[in-house]
Amino acid sequence: MYDPLHDNSPGCGEKFPNSYWADVSGPAPEDDGQLNADINVDVAIIGAGFTGLSTALHLAREHGIKATVLEANGTAWGASGRNGGFILKSSGRKPYATMQQQWGEEVMRGIYQEMCEGVDTVQSLIAEGIDCDQQDPGYIRVAHKPKMLKSLIATAELQQKMFNYDVEILSRADLHQNYMADQNAFGAIRYQDGQGINPLKLARGYQKLARKAGAKIHCSSPVEHWTEEGHGANKRQVLQTPKGIVKAKKVVIASNAYTPKNLHSLVKNRTLPVLSQIIVTQPLSAEQLAACNFLTSNVIMDTRALKYYYRKLPDNRILFGGRGAITGKGAEDPYYANRLLGVLKSNFPALTQIKYDYTWSGWLSMSLDDMPHVYQNDEHNTFYAMGYCGSGVSFTVQAGKRLAQKVAGEEVPNLPLYQKPLPKFPFAPFRRIGQWGYFQYGKIKDEWF
Ligand SMILES: Cc1cc2nc3c(=O)[nH]c(=O)nc-3n(C[C@H](O)[C@H](O)[C@H](O)COP(=O)(O)OP(=O)(O)OC[C@H]3O[C@@H](n4cnc5c(N)ncnc54)[C@H](O)[C@@H]3O)c2cc1C
Repeated sequence: MYDPLHDNSPGCGEKFPNSYWADVSGPAPEDDGQLNADINVDVAIIGAGFTGLSTALHLAREHGIKATVLEANGTAWGASGRNGGFILKSSGRKPYATMQQQWGEEVMRGIYQEMCEGVDTVQSLIAEGIDCDQQDPGYIRVAHKPKMLKSLIATAELQQKMFNYDVEILSRADLHQNYMADQNAFGAIRYQDGQGINPLKLARGYQKLARKAGAKIHCSSPVEHWTEEGHGANKRQVLQTPKGIVKAKKVVIASNAYTPKNLHSLVKNRTLPVLSQIIVTQPLSAEQLAACNFLTSNVIMDTRALKYYYRKLPDNRILFGGRGAITGKGAEDPYYANRLLGVLKSNFPALTQIKYDYTWSGWLSMSLDDMPHVYQNDEHNTFYAMGYCGSGVSFTVQAGKRLAQKVAGEEVPNLPLYQKPLPKFPFAPFRRIGQWGYFQYGKIKDEWF
């Protein structure tokens, strides 16, 4: 499997993974085909995931700029078409309490507001007619240990106080009776506004809207080489793809965790790509659903350091995800899918006979300071948004909207998310050793503390 820390390109026109989403989403909508000529453009965007598509859409609709998107494979071939489909009001891993300590209450509230706007924008785009199999709203965070329930309750109380956020506290009995009988759950908190969707259909919906607004989307067009020519107002970014060269006044990097290792010095060594693995089971029978009391189609995540997440899909299959291999080379090892299946069965012992029909994995992008950055470099007329830390289904759309404003020369809110570059990883060649160490720590913490 493509490994962004080792490979120079995510490929060209690669097949989609054998995912449930690829199977149930029908044929891909029309795009603008492979780039097969040399062109001059105002704005080129690298990557047709949620970030690139949102940037293209907002540039066209709100600023009258018709961008050209260059995608190595197909639209949403990266994380956007292979994630869990959880719409959450969050991004990054930095707790609000830490933001408050670090930057004060105003900044913390500003960031919360951006996360809310991300969800609102996704919902308003869906309301334009994107059919993406939305399920009942609700996001349940389950305590995997009794003491974690206390910490969840403290979080809920803080969020209620700070943001007037509607959070419900569920005892183990409430959870088992009204949502599902996860035997490893010791209670939970439930937000009213998370939601499960089909992410591939969502991305394809954005693609249609972006093209309708005037953007061009060229698939099978990886940027394989990037140079710069000219000076001042005549400066151009020169992007070489297999069958055409793009000379652009401005470039947006929207390739997040799939960014190949030598794409540009501005993003080199600034993220850690981490694999997340998903299995989708066979459809549960009526007896199996009843035995687990699996009533809810809310999205669910636990409190482990190495988190597991799951949801019941519209056809009664369970999508269950967690960490995958460390390198692309190990990604296809069935060990990782079987481990997920084992945890699912320990949560729901009535499912001992269940098998999985689909498994796949994808890269998410961790940042050193646990939050995404939307950044602009004036020397190279280059912009980027990345580092969502595994939570980007909604915030990517907000990031794309803010990127579009930056490209158009508008001010964006004065928040750390939007003003600073991603910090560089120290000892970058050893990032994977650090990741392995964190996994060992996580395993011990989740089991013993
Ligand atoms: C298994 C998994 C589960 C997840 N679950 C959730 C979830 O439930 N909820 C949530 O909020 N987040 C989730 N995430 C994270 C979320 O999917 C990402 O944050 C989000 O999709 C990132 O979108 P993006 O557009 O920035 O990048 P991507 O969707 O990864 O798109 C990047 C694109 O850039 C292209 N590209 C790379 N290099 C080049 C090049 N040189 N030239 C041209 N194109 C290039 C790639 O082909 C790719 O299509 C999950 C991620 C994974 C992997």
